[in-house]
Amino acid sequence: SRYLRDVPEGPPDPILGINESYKSCADPRKVNVCVGAYRDARGRPWVLPAVRDAERRLLDDPATNKEYAPIAGDPTFVDLALKFAYGADADVSVIAGMQALSGTGACRVGGHFLSRFVPRPAGRAKVPIYVPDPTWGNHVAIFEECGMDVRRYRYYDAGTNRLNYAGIVEDLTNAPDGSVILLHACAHNPTGCDPTFEQWDAISELIASKGHVAFFDSAYQGFASGDAEADAFALRHFVSRGHNVVLAQSFAKNFGLYGERTGTISVVCSNPEERSAVLSQLKLIARPMYSSPPVHGSNIVRTVLTDKGLTGEYYNNCREMAARIRAMRERLVDVLLEVGSSHDWSHVTEQIGMFAYTGMSSEMCDVLTSEYSIFLTRDGRISLAGLNDDNIEYVARAIHAVTD
Ligand code: PMP
Repeated sequence: SRYLRDVPEGPPDPILGINESYKSCADPRKVNVCVGAYRDARGRPWVLPAVRDAERRLLDDPATNKEYAPIAGDPTFVDLALKFAYGADADVSVIAGMQALSGTGACRVGGHFLSRFVPRPAGRAKVPIYVPDPTWGNHVAIFEECGMDVRRYRYYDAGTNRLNYAGIVEDLTNAPDGSVILLHACAHNPTGCDPTFEQWDAISELIASKGHVAFFDSAYQGFASGDAEADAFALRHFVSRGHNVVLAQSFAKNFGLYGERTGTISVVCSNPEERSAVLSQLKLIARPMYSSPPVHGSNIVRTVLTDKGLTGEYYNNCREMAARIRAMRERLVDVLLEVGSSHDWSHVTEQIGMFAYTGMSSEMCDVLTSEYSIFLTRDGRISLAGLNDDNIEYVARAIHAVTD
């Protein structure tokens, strides 16, 4: 057809493109520390034992079928997922919650909703959303696709390799009143730097005083500390302070359900009438976009969280993942010092979550890839889950060589 001749080749995805290069690399020394997916101590993907057990039960249960879910997904799953995020005692009767296609799909539906219903500041054609600088790369594209005006607030100080708290406060203060503020609920990607409790409290006050809308992206609940309850602190604190938060919840990392596309989008409303109206609008966004969500992942989460034994097993599995990642973080810094690095790597030790945000330049990253076949994003971010006893010394020596 004529028009196809004019379709230009698009650029590869910055993260998934690197993953492809890793796969096609023939160097036996190659290491993949690019993508944020958990690997076990032998470098293999890990299906959580609690998830496997739930799948076995589902397979044996004659009531399991492949029927369509409702537009808003499995209501039992949504209820359990909301309680997982907001707390067992949360009043879900005022939370408009809908199943979503993992965190990405939740961000997309949430962004669409906000773009449609948040009043635009005077003279603006689009609803502004402020995302941290830096942030997960896909955020910018997602919210642009939602028709939002994507802006950045300072988040990280590359000079000190620490949170730029003063920058956050200044930029959120200067944002027009009523802006949407995207917050990483915990274990900020890519920096691994979260505000302290006191800073979260002050940010909550500031956001309230400006009439901003807090939009939490929770992709790592349980991955930061190993305890999903502790990791929900910021979200729950904002709700307790009266914020009508929006939450994009992903079960990709904490349940290891990456490819099952399991999550929720929710909006904390002020009463059941608001909840009903908001939920009706979320469904109107989902129906022409994908009609209804996939059911396997939500069946798994529902099965795990409705059974005491499986829930306990799950919490142990999650703790194990977080502990292995934390051990790799500490070991990486230890080995860097052992092989003679005189750099200050204390920021890596202090960071939390899945990544080490090393502070290496793009040029250093390029050398790691071209000379050592270590595949990472060009912002110097290393997925600690890609490290294990077999490759950590190799990686540390290579990092020392390029940063010396
Ligand atoms: N938000 C953040 C901050 C993430 O890091 C990710 C995954 N890399 C996501 C959302 C979404 O992931 P998924 O769509 O697989 O849930």
